[in-house]
Order: sequence, then structure tokens, then C-alpha cells
Amino acid sequence: MPTADDFTRPVEWLPELAYQFSQMIREWGERRYRPVRRKIDEDWREHRLVEPLLKEALVDLGINKALWPSEYGGMDIPREVLGTMTAVMSEELGRLDSGFAVSVLVSLWPMVMIAVEPHRNQRLIEEFAPRFCGEELYVGCNAMTEPQGGSDIENLEGMKGRTIRTTARLEGDEWVIRGHKLWPTNSGRMADLFGVVCTTNPSAGEEGMAYIYVPADAEGVRVGEPYQKAGMAADMNTDIWFEDVRVPAHYRAHGPGLDAKYFRELITLGNIATAGFSVGVIKDTYEILKRWVDERVVAGKPLKEHSISAVNLSEIATAAEICTHSLYMAARMYDHPETYGEPWSEKLVAKTRAVSLFCSDQAVHCTNRAMELMGSYGYSREFDVEKHWRDSKMLTLWMGGRQLDMIEITRYFFECRTL
Ligand SMILES: Cc1cc2nc3c(=O)[nH]c(=O)nc-3n(C[C@H](O)[C@H](O)[C@H](O)COP(=O)(O)OP(=O)(O)OC[C@H]3O[C@@H](n4cnc5c(N)ncnc54)[C@H](O)[C@@H]3O)c2cc1C
Repeated sequence: MPTADDFTRPVEWLPELAYQFSQMIREWGERRYRPVRRKIDEDWREHRLVEPLLKEALVDLGINKALWPSEYGGMDIPREVLGTMTAVMSEELGRLDSGFAVSVLVSLWPMVMIAVEPHRNQRLIEEFAPRFCGEELYVGCNAMTEPQGGSDIENLEGMKGRTIRTTARLEGDEWVIRGHKLWPTNSGRMADLFGVVCTTNPSAGEEGMAYIYVPADAEGVRVGEPYQKAGMAADMNTDIWFEDVRVPAHYRAHGPGLDAKYFRELITLGNIATAGFSVGVIKDTYEILKRWVDERVVAGKPLKEHSISAVNLSEIATAAEICTHSLYMAARMYDHPETYGEPWSEKLVAKTRAVSLFCSDQAVHCTNRAMELMGSYGYSREFDVEKHWRDSKMLTLWMGGRQLDMIEITRYFFECRTL
């Protein structure tokens, strides 16, 4: 009997570690997360349920250790399988809850700047790895978006960091950071360490862009109250103010030009993760819907036996199949820069944006169709399709949204000069 696991993953590409992680997250998720999933929506402000679950995922399952070298207690996931591991983890977590999935994986996201070959920063690894590999919950947050706009900051190719308003001024051996961020995943009281996109000089373009780590308990860091959103309740999003916050000069990830360069790798990995969350959403929706159309009888026969239903059911199965292929191909591109190009190249950013755009659009489409097939039951909280329907829209909105996806794809493939 086909299940969501029958949609084709490239089995010969997946390392043994991917299967282990996949199984581990699946087993934990079914036992610990799924039974409380419906209650998470009510927990958006307090995170009384979410926080212990986040600890279980990041600390007890060890996801927080993924990037760090083994001498610090890390898992040291090899660079050549990191894309695939991101795909597997985002898909498995996305099946449960794409809001929780983003919260888990964003803890690692800012650390990609310094923990991944070939741009490891040994001094910062020594400083931060023990915090992420310890027994206490320690959460990362990638603070890019600002009140005047998120997309322009993520549109590095077009805007070259010119619109960043959070400033970093070097005074002696300290950076002094001043600015206002909002929306980042894990912001508010969840985050222990911010990776902050700032500028040392907005008119210097990419040379002026700086990526600087700021511990949440540094003097002058202030966070706001969680926003109430349509979905993604497991992800806490707030304002963050940096009011002349001082951090050591070596907390900058790399240096002029290099911070902007490697920041693009965060966008590439963010695209792969977004595609993974989308695949997770589509597969969980498929499983819920499959049970429903088997049992629900309309006009004397099971819902699935009507040709009008087949139109929508085939769309959902096709999306699950094709999006899975695209996800693992995007991951493979990341894992093999010698064949497909560097993960910070305009090409990889554009190609993975294409995969993210396609898969997230499909997640929105499939949850919508599933709800139509289930009628009012799909709209009811009882069956969780409406949860995926609300959450999945966000997968098309962050990181500059569909428009920036389309712009970056077109700019690369059609060699646009002004777009
Ligand atoms: C659940 C959630 C998680 C998030 N996680 C993070 C995070 O971890 N870190 C973080 O920093 N932020 C995060 N965000 C913020 C999110 O990434 C931004 O909201 C998003 O990038 C869009 O920025 P904006 O809302 O300022 O919209 P704007 O930048 O004002 O964009 C407005 C519209 O313009 C479109 N657009 C973009 N570029 C162009 C262009 N060149 N030409 C024409 N139209 C364009 C956009 O697609 C959008 O439709 C998160 C938000 C949510 C809700």
C-alpha cells in the first residue's frame, strides 16, 4: 500500500546518516510532537509547549550539534552531505509542523557562516561551539529583516546591501551595533545568539556589509512581544533593538566583501530548507487526505473513485513526487560545488530559489485542494489540513517572497541588467 515514503527519494545518493536522522526525527515526532500538534496554535505567545520540544529536538536529538567539529562535541556533518542532510531534516520536521521545523533549523542557520568549510572561523567556533553542543538549550537567530524592508537586504545581487540600516561601528577592539530588526525566526526570548546583518558603511555596498554575532544577553539588546500570525505558531517572531550594543571585534564572521559573499550561502541553504518544509507539508497532507478519500462516501462510492476527485488527487501525488525530486537535486547541487558551482554563486542562489518557489507554491496549492476535497472537515482544526494550509503560505513569503524568487531566477537565466 503506497505511503508518503513511496514518493521517490534518490536512495543511492543518501548517506547512511540521512536515514538515521530521518528515522530518528520520525520516531520522535510521532511520539512527542504529533500528539500535541493541535495545541501549538494556542502556545504562540508563551511557548510553554514549544520550548521543551525545541530542547528535545536541538539538544536531546542533537540537531544543534550538526555543524560543529567533533572536538567540541559536534557531529561534524561532512560538507559534501550537508545539503542532503538539510533536505532530510527539513522534510521530516516539515511533515510535523513547518513552523517548528523553521525554528529548529534556523538555530543552525547563522552558524553556517563560520562553521562550514571552506570558510570556517576557528576562533568563533571555539567560542560558540561549546554553547551549541552543551546540555542546555541554546538557540540561534538570523537577524536580517528591518522595518523598512526585508527583501532589499536579501536581494544582495540587486541592492548590494545599500538599504541595511543597522550600523556597526568599530571602536577600539569592539563593534558598536545600533539598529532595529524584526520578524526573525526564534527572535524574542527564544534566541540566545543573533547573527546580525549590519553595515559599516551603506555607500560601500557589499564591502560595507558585515555579519556580526551578538549574544542576546549583551547590554543594549531589547526584544519585543511575539507577533500573532495566521500560522507558524511554533516560530516566535518579534522586534529586536540593538542600542549601542558592544561585542568583541572578532565577533564579525569574516570581513569586508567576505561576509556578503558567504551570506549568499545562507540564502541557498534557506531555499533548500524551504523546499524541504514544503515537501513535508505536501506529504503529510497526502497522508491525511488518503485516509479521508478512502473512507468518505459521496454519491454511493468512495470519494477517491470519482473522476472529478482524481483531478485533484493526481495533482497532489504529482506535486509530492516532483517536489521530492527537485528538493534532493537542489541538495545535491549544494553538496557538489565542483560540479554545480559554489553555494554563494548567483547561479546556485537562482536555481535553489526556483526549487523553493516551485515547492512552496505546490504546498499552498495542495493544502488548498486537499481542503476542497475534505469540505468543512478540511476547514476544521480536527484534521490538521487547515494548519498546513495556514502555515504553508508563509513558505512563499519569507526571504523576499515569491517576487524576489522570480526576480533572482529571471535575472540569472535571462541575464537582466536592471531587474
Ligand atoms: C514566520 C516568519 C519567519 C521569518 N524568519 C525570518 C528570519 O529568520 N530572519 C529574518 O531576518 N527575517 C525573517 N522573516 C521576515 C521575512 O523574511 C520578511 O518579512 C520577508 O523577507 C519580506 O520582507 P518584508 O516583509 O519587509 O516585505 P518587503 O521587503 O517590503 O516586500 C514587499 C513585497 O515586495 C516584493 N518584492 C521583493 N523584492 C522586490 C523587488 N525587487 N521588486 C518588486 N517587488 C519586490 C516582496 O515579495 C513582497 O511581496 C520571517 C517572517 C516570518 C513571518
